[in-house]
Amino acid sequence: MDGVTGKRRKMEAFDALESNVRSYSRSFPAIFSRARGSIMLTEDGRKLIDFLSGAGTLNYGHNNHGIKAAITEYLASDAVVHGLDIATPAKLEFMETFSSVILRERDLEYRFQFTGPTGANGIEAALKLSRKVTGRQNIISFTHGYHGMSLGAIAASGNRFYRRASGVSLSGTTFMPYDRYLGPAVDTADYLRKMLMDESSGVDSPAAILVETVQGEGGINVASKQWLQSIQAIAKNVGALFIVDDIQMGCGRTGEFFSFEFAALSPDIVVLSKSLSGYGLPLSMLLIKEGLDAWRPGEHTGTFRGNNLALVSATAAINLYWRCRTFSQGVHRMGELMRRRLEAIASEHGNSLAVRGRGMALGFDCQTAEIAELTTRKAFEKGLIVERCGPVDQVVKFLPALTIDLEVLNRGLEIFEESLVETLNRPGGA
Ligand SMILES: *Cc1c(COP(=O)(O)O)cnc(C)c1O
Repeated sequence: MDGVTGKRRKMEAFDALESNVRSYSRSFPAIFSRARGSIMLTEDGRKLIDFLSGAGTLNYGHNNHGIKAAITEYLASDAVVHGLDIATPAKLEFMETFSSVILRERDLEYRFQFTGPTGANGIEAALKLSRKVTGRQNIISFTHGYHGMSLGAIAASGNRFYRRASGVSLSGTTFMPYDRYLGPAVDTADYLRKMLMDESSGVDSPAAILVETVQGEGGINVASKQWLQSIQAIAKNVGALFIVDDIQMGCGRTGEFFSFEFAALSPDIVVLSKSLSGYGLPLSMLLIKEGLDAWRPGEHTGTFRGNNLALVSATAAINLYWRCRTFSQGVHRMGELMRRRLEAIASEHGNSLAVRGRGMALGFDCQTAEIAELTTRKAFEKGLIVERCGPVDQVVKFLPALTIDLEVLNRGLEIFEESLVETLNRPGGA
């Protein structure tokens, strides 16, 4: 059996065996066998540049050498891998390292809550804790927001496709317009303030305001510093907790460790997951302000909380990249290069194309889903893995590893430009 037939047979086996719900294997039809840094290898010998990075889970690249060494050593020593939430040296070392290297340096003080291993698990815990602390039910979330697939998280997420699939009525949330949702002339924070201060607006007093500083799935929509500061102040004024969902934009993606540092925010709860473990191992946690940790022992539980292997890789990632400013400066520098290159591409090839983002989270708005889809499909054929986001998937989303080589980054951007140009020049295309 030759390589092509072998690949087709295997892809058909996925069709036969795996649920219809699978999605990335459809966007990127290949069998990926190995990966290192920003390069993924397929079984049939292709080499692809990865600008998807597990939707922001692989900020330090695939199979990062330094992090791998730490978990390999941990495994070899027969240290405790799973222990529910019993105390282990790995967990203590993680909390102490995170406290001193990340929190203390930023004048932040939080307690750690390890939740089930997904981002959605963290969001559920944050919403539940806010309701418990305030005795209120309503959660304010924002248009185009995305917080995960469990029912509480979906109730706070905007996307109709996902909401409809829940099969039950979603409740307990009120949506408000995100920054610039109503155009540049309307300050949506003013609108939110008015709705929450007015005893007769029809909006119940919220337990929390839940926000992403840059909306990842929602289309790389960037909230301004001023808007975020207003939202935080409103939460404080109305007695609601201020929660930042930093699952996708945290861990260095926007340049600083937390995506809210640029606005000097001090959230009551921060939710981290995706790149927290640094290696693609599942790990999720809440940072809870002292005084808000209202849980009774065991009141929110779960089997896979704070997996020790993931805590070891998370500690290694902090030690490797966050003990000095160099890494963060590099992310800013590379993000700036990316932005300038994408802006040049946008202005050269059309007048409706737009670039948005912060740090190394950038979106290229193609305006139509068709152009974005054809471009990413062509890019895949040419050796680049890049995904789409936004309400109708019209935005190409760039999330390269923060550790990517400049040469590989440039080659990926070149492939994107070639693919976009071919798409725009296609017969009958615009
Ligand atoms: C991915 C993501 C989630 C959900 O995380 P899962 O691990 O998929 O449950 C929540 N919020 C944001 C901003 C995300 O990007």
